[in-house]
Amino acid sequence: MNDDERPSDGARDLDDQSSYVCRSCGEEIVVPIDPLAGADQEYVEDCPVCCRPHVLRVRISRDGRVDLTAEAE
Ligand SMILES: [Zn+2]
Repeated sequence: MNDDERPSDGARDLDDQSSYVCRSCGEEIVVPIDPLAGADQEYVEDCPVCCRPHVLRVRISRDGRVDLTAEAE
């Protein structure tokens, strides 16, 4: 018995997007997450609202939870 198994989409239970709050303008920015890029990612992205760069750090845990943190560059 495996009650954890979902009938559909069970293998792909990953969040494929996450969000952060811009330090500069306060907008919540949703960013796509690419799980294939690794469980620990860091990259710079400009806020689409105010164009300030942020260092985004993505961590994907083994159960598929995405943790996104952003710092002003
Ligand atoms: Zn902004």
